[in-house]
Amino acid sequence: MYDVIIIGGGIVGCALARELSRYNLRLALIEKEVEVGFGTSKTNSGIIHAGHHSAEGTLKGKFEWAGNQRWDDLARDLKFGFKRIGELLIAQKPEDLQYLEDLKKQGDSRGVTGLEIWEPKQIRKAEPNLSHSILQALHAPTAAVINPYEACFGLIECARQNGAQLFCDHPVMSIRQKDDGFSIQTGQKKFLSQIILNATGVFADRVAAMIGADNFKIFPRKGEEYLLDRRLQGIVSHLIFPTPSATSKGVLIIPTVDGPIMVGPTAEEVDNRENLSTSFAGASKIFASVRKSCPAISERDTITEFAGLRAVSGTNDFIIEPSPVKGFYNIAGIQSPGLTAAPVIATFVTEMLRADGLALTEKSTWKAAIDGPPHFAQMTTRERQAAILDDPAFGRIVCRCESVTEAEIRYAIRHGARTLDGVKFRVRAGMGRCQGGFCTTRIMDLLAQTLAIPLAEITKRGRGSNVCTPRHDDLSVEDLG
Ligand SMILES: Cc1cc2nc3c(=O)[nH]c(=O)nc-3n(C[C@H](O)[C@H](O)[C@H](O)COP(=O)(O)OP(=O)(O)OC[C@H]3O[C@@H](n4cnc5c(N)ncnc54)[C@H](O)[C@@H]3O)c2cc1C
Repeated sequence: MYDVIIIGGGIVGCALARELSRYNLRLALIEKEVEVGFGTSKTNSGIIHAGHHSAEGTLKGKFEWAGNQRWDDLARDLKFGFKRIGELLIAQKPEDLQYLEDLKKQGDSRGVTGLEIWEPKQIRKAEPNLSHSILQALHAPTAAVINPYEACFGLIECARQNGAQLFCDHPVMSIRQKDDGFSIQTGQKKFLSQIILNATGVFADRVAAMIGADNFKIFPRKGEEYLLDRRLQGIVSHLIFPTPSATSKGVLIIPTVDGPIMVGPTAEEVDNRENLSTSFAGASKIFASVRKSCPAISERDTITEFAGLRAVSGTNDFIIEPSPVKGFYNIAGIQSPGLTAAPVIATFVTEMLRADGLALTEKSTWKAAIDGPPHFAQMTTRERQAAILDDPAFGRIVCRCESVTEAEIRYAIRHGARTLDGVKFRVRAGMGRCQGGFCTTRIMDLLAQTLAIPLAEITKRGRGSNVCTPRHDDLSVEDLG
């Protein structure tokens, strides 16, 4: 019997797990994918929003600025990529100028620091590659970029170090209410818990429906993103936002935390919650929009593309509340700025549980920080020499594009990577220009050796994405039909 079970290991579930791991609770997180962070939390723009975007009077507005200020400490403690690079929200039409003024007023009244309207001369000095037709821009120095999947891995590693249990590859299939709590049936086993926190993103209404707590609906909205060649690195140094539309912040130019530029996302209502395809139409829309603000960006520079699904609720706001079923809480409708807000959502939910009578006594042994993975590419020559002397596997480069060593890949596997994407998102192996063309087979070998599994069981991102088939002489007569 657990005190609290979190269903869903996205940024929200992982932040909840770390926050609740401060207390003497029997705590577990159940995730359907083979690793945490493999839902929307790995397929977003990776922006910690500046604090002034979301509308007043909404939970999104309440949590955006508060969330923004939590990430410096988290990045330091959990050792993930994070940079405050600032943002420019540009006005290209006279009718956009009032929007900039209104947004500045909203930010100022909320206490967002450093907001300034820039004139064309100042814009050109800071960003010489932007279009000369820009009339004004709102500069927000508090905007930042992070590696969102690294943040999920860091949060859950910290939660586990503090006693939380993690069950990946456990899709929740049904939930039953019992006298003293709930029983949760996954594909693999049954769990009992007094409290359930439903943090299942785009599936939150379906999981809530398992217990009759679905007093809301989720309307998935797809966003496509395009990552560009390092050739364009530095073409802009700030996040570039257009003036937004009613349904989205518009197409952004994003200098990612690792350097390469990303452009996106689109915003398209979809029915299928598994369809993460990208499209010619999406790409055309993105590049046409981006070229208006930065003419040198072209689709020919795309090295990879992906799509994510926003979990939009009927109210267009976060739903963070006890459900009609006592002990079952919905943390749903967590669309943008959900990544930014996640640490504050975790604190808010914790206080809600306390107010509802959950006894929260702090552990004296709780540790805020983890060691974090080594990064050979960021070491000085002296540090590299010392690392190789300590472990010769640092002397064997596996991913040439990003200079990732065998030692880092082994570390990633020891700390939870089970798939090619799990390795890629922890240590960048396969993220460079060749997109794994040279290193994939070597990473597969390392996964097979370290996990003691056959090559045919290795997947790109979990069930159904196996990279190769078993050798014919390993198959039985029945397998061969
Ligand atoms: C294209 C795009 C760009 C975005 N950009 C930004 C941005 O720059 N900044 C920002 O702040 N926000 C951004 N967002 C929003 C942000 O990504 C989300 O708000 C955030 O990732 C939501 O996290 P989550 O944990 O609620 O959901 P998820 O990450 O989707 O996690 C839910 C988890 O629940 C699991 N799950 C589902 N069903 C079950 C089940 N039955 N059993 C067990 N587990 C289950 C899923 O596998 C998943 O891992 C963007 C979103 C999109 C789509």
